[in-house]
Amino acid sequence: MSILIYIDHAEGQIKRGTLEALSYGAALAKKLSTNAEAILLGTVNEDLAALGKYGITKIHHATDERFNNADAQTVAKTLTAAVSSTGADVVVFSFNATGVAVAPRLAAALKAGLVAGAVDLPETENGFVVKKTVFSGKAFARVKINSSIKIISLNANSFGIHELGSATAEVDTLDFAPVTNKVKVISTELIKGEVPLAEAEIVVSGGRGLKGPENWHLISDLAHELHGAIACSRPVADDGWRPHHEHVGQTGVQVAPNLYIAIGISGAIQHLGGVNRSKTIVVINKDADAPFFKAADYGIVGDAFEIVPKMIEAVKKMKA
Ligand code: FAD
Repeated sequence: MSILIYIDHAEGQIKRGTLEALSYGAALAKKLSTNAEAILLGTVNEDLAALGKYGITKIHHATDERFNNADAQTVAKTLTAAVSSTGADVVVFSFNATGVAVAPRLAAALKAGLVAGAVDLPETENGFVVKKTVFSGKAFARVKINSSIKIISLNANSFGIHELGSATAEVDTLDFAPVTNKVKVISTELIKGEVPLAEAEIVVSGGRGLKGPENWHLISDLAHELHGAIACSRPVADDGWRPHHEHVGQTGVQVAPNLYIAIGISGAIQHLGGVNRSKTIVVINKDADAPFFKAADYGIVGDAFEIVPKMIEAVKKMKA
């Protein structure tokens, strides 16, 4: 059994979630006494051989630059060919926008079982059983994959990034070109100067308790001081205070940062569904009975307009 990890990248950078997927794939390979290999479609400004430090022995690299803007269909078709040529039995993705779009297509093409949103290494003593979150993170399911090829996408921040040493990986060039299909990517626009929400280690999030968009500087100033990403509840995006790509929850972005600070958010089940895998949750709400306090590690009952400026000052002082 061999493992193939998909290297996701944008603007020449390997995404943080991929480093976690590489660590996960390497640990799985060790458990199964096999090798962890990775595949990169397109180009990055990074030393691929250095990915050996995460336990990867070989990188299959399709160097055609057109892959940098390839859509999910093209990536899935190319990976279908790559899985056959590398003989991989397990393919690992990050459970991010790319993983969500590509992994199911690959699974359908290869007739492979897929577990999306894994949170732990598979149990392999009795078959191949993968633990994942279900019901918006309120419960876990253990799913057995019976197909010969198995596909897993890994939830962010569920395994961690582990450097194992200074080994270098062998880099093997693949002579693949993007297949033409019905979708053509004309241009992509990357939001610059902000920490990407899905990959952020700290998220500062605001709700309707902020009263209006004119008060959003409280959220953005705190996020800026903490080098965190900005998020919001759905009504805040629905009302046009903030863009929809910042809305977290069941119908928005799912986040799992080390620290999630919720300010003026009630903690409805649909909101919690997208944030309750966060390692530490801090809730600031003036209503002591707000449901969010039940999910909080730390809670402050009080007015956000008094508390948040004090927090910003305190962080500034600590940094100074
Ligand atoms: P509110 O419920 O109005 O809460 C505002 C909070 O701010 C209150 O707890 C209040 O005590 C507090 N507050 C007020 N003033 C202050 C102050 N000065 N200082 C401190 N605290 C203050 N919601 C999501 O967020 N994400 C989703 O993905 C999502 N998906 C949904 C899907 C469906 C199908 C449905 C039906 C709903 C969905 N919702 C989602 C909406 C969800 O049910 C809630 O309505 C929403 O999360 C509430 O947003 P809120 O907490 O910002 O606002």
